[in-house]
Amino acid sequence: MKYILVIGDGMADLPQDALGGRTPLEAAQKPLIDSLAARGIVGKARTVPIGVPPGSDTAILSIFGFDPREVYTGRSPLEAAGSGLELKAGNISFRCNLCAISELGEGGAYEEQTMLSHSGGAIEGELAQALMRDLIADEGFAALLAEYGLWFQVNPSYRHIAVLEKGSDRVTLEPPHEILGQGIKKYLPKGDGEGMLLALMKASYEILGRHPINEARRREGKPAANSLWFWGQGKAVRLSDFGENFGHFGGVITAVPLVKGIARLAGLPAPEVEGANGELDTNYEGKVEAALLSLQKNDFAALHIEAPDEMSHAGDLEKKLEAIARIDRRVFAPLLVGLDKLKEPYRILFLSDHYTLLSSGGHEGSPVPFLLYDSRVDLGRGLPYGEPSAELGGLMEDATKLMPLLFEQ
Ligand SMILES: [Zn+2]
Repeated sequence: MKYILVIGDGMADLPQDALGGRTPLEAAQKPLIDSLAARGIVGKARTVPIGVPPGSDTAILSIFGFDPREVYTGRSPLEAAGSGLELKAGNISFRCNLCAISELGEGGAYEEQTMLSHSGGAIEGELAQALMRDLIADEGFAALLAEYGLWFQVNPSYRHIAVLEKGSDRVTLEPPHEILGQGIKKYLPKGDGEGMLLALMKASYEILGRHPINEARRREGKPAANSLWFWGQGKAVRLSDFGENFGHFGGVITAVPLVKGIARLAGLPAPEVEGANGELDTNYEGKVEAALLSLQKNDFAALHIEAPDEMSHAGDLEKKLEAIARIDRRVFAPLLVGLDKLKEPYRILFLSDHYTLLSSGGHEGSPVPFLLYDSRVDLGRGLPYGEPSAELGGLMEDATKLMPLLFEQ
């Protein structure tokens, strides 16, 4: 018997006028998924407990059987684990974006600037890395880091990790993608360590602002990647062992450090897949191959597809529809062929981890539609997979019960 979890990140959404009142899931071309739904169980699950911030971090913890109210300390410690960083007791880790904020001419105070881009104007990985390396090597900046006991894991993207050896996570920090186009003043750090974080942000603005890479970007009409922005902080996380919890084991295939981190902290392997990038043009087939390879040795595998969430943050309806259609065409098609070749019965749990609304570009915590298919039986009502069908299927109030449902426990 084989058990497969497939997460389409951020697929769930509200009815769209442009779709005649249908949701993207209802309107997308997904014949295979709908054929499984017609013979499976379609219901709703509350992956984000009430009062908990909606996001992949909290929702996917629930899906893997961990109650975020008990284990969630912030986004960054999960990403740190996914990037191979082992946090020690007392450490606080922060997500640190290399952002682009406005440059209101000579002497414009940092606090008076506006958030232009959470990704440094979609700066290329190697350029972001070079900027970060030069920043950290700057004498004045290095002295600040030494004084505060803070260091960076620099990644080939605008997403970096900062680790504070000793400190507090009681500080209010705002995700930069939530404040695009807004003045930064009211979103600056507030709480423990606010002075330290602001000093580092202002120093980065000073140093990066005059860096040749940014001078070249200005000449090319691109925003300068000129400011660090800290958020998603948290203490080191300990998760119990997934294999011990459920008696099943296997690989988690994803491009996203956050999901890799949850897998690794839960004792599950998260192999790298060439070309898996969390974007619309990710290597779908390579990811399915990796999942099928895991299923040859084990009885469980999980596949996480980030693209629908990214397209929703971008507010792009056409691309969200295409992302869902690619999950059907380039994930489910090869997956079902591969499963048939394994010649064993199987159960598939397919769901959106949370809502990501095209209208706001933000996450939303309503219960999500899930589909459970069992190759041995026809359990279905002949309904397609989507929010309206799930409405008819009843609500699973506690999504940590999804894995026991998949594993028939
Ligand atoms: Zn997500």
